[in-house]
Amino acid sequence: MATLDGLPPLRDVIDRFGLDARKALGQNFLLDLNLTQKIARTAGPLEGITVIEVGPGPGGLTRAILSLGAKKVIAVERDPRCLPALAEIESHYPGRLEVIEGDALKTDFASLVPDGPVRIIANLPYNVGTQLLVNWLLPATWPPFWQSMTLMFQKEVGQRIVAEEDDDHYGRLGVLCGWRTEARMAFDVPPQAFTPPPKVTSTVVHLTPRDNPLPCDVTKLERVTMAAFGQRRKMLRQSVKSLGGEALLQKADIDPQRRAETLSVEEFVRLANAL
Ligand code: SAM
Repeated sequence: MATLDGLPPLRDVIDRFGLDARKALGQNFLLDLNLTQKIARTAGPLEGITVIEVGPGPGGLTRAILSLGAKKVIAVERDPRCLPALAEIESHYPGRLEVIEGDALKTDFASLVPDGPVRIIANLPYNVGTQLLVNWLLPATWPPFWQSMTLMFQKEVGQRIVAEEDDDHYGRLGVLCGWRTEARMAFDVPPQAFTPPPKVTSTVVHLTPRDNPLPCDVTKLERVTMAAFGQRRKMLRQSVKSLGGEALLQKADIDPQRRAETLSVEEFVRLANAL
């Protein structure tokens, strides 16, 4: 049976190319094109936009992005078994899909990007997802090469990304994301939507860069959040002792009896700038 985009159903693609899912590559495929379209639509209108996708796999999300009118998709996939399936999509959308076989963790994404707006959309492999997000948040120059990121994570990671102070999920990731982006959870995706189903619920997170993040050296911010959340139940005078303890907190005008999870992003920035 043909699908709305005229390409074969994803289940047939997986059978034909022998794409049995490999756990080591974080392969949990989405076969429902309505769902992949819903994810792609979360990124906003895609006409004229170049999209970077990590891990296209058999191409469910890639097809959704292209069918919604993206000018081009640049997709980085580590598993060479997926390339023939992706080549079929490439010939269905001539000149609009560029597949790079490689490890996304070793890819210099900024250098791949042509002129014009770029959005990142991906159902990320769970084992490298957080590291990729952090890499995209850390460039020395800001605003970054991307206009938005629409990313699927395990729900617990999504909660850490959007968490603010006084939330149990708040930690280093929440501070970093809150400092440079506005992040929101768009919707949950249950395990049974994937083939094979993962153990936990997933969630789609949408992040846009802040125009003017508070000025701060990212290395210093990382140092203070690492120390503070390394002992999150302890008072700050204890947890940031190695960085200057009470004197540092006094300089940043922060009560040394407070705990890491009560500090806002702005207060963490103050602490980093006092280092
Ligand atoms: N986008 C497809 C979908 O939604 O059905 C597949 C998503 S699956 C969760 C993750 C994909 O990332 C797999 O295709 C896997 O081979 C690929 N992958 C895993 N590690 C990778 C890496 N380091 N670099 C690039 N791709 C990777």
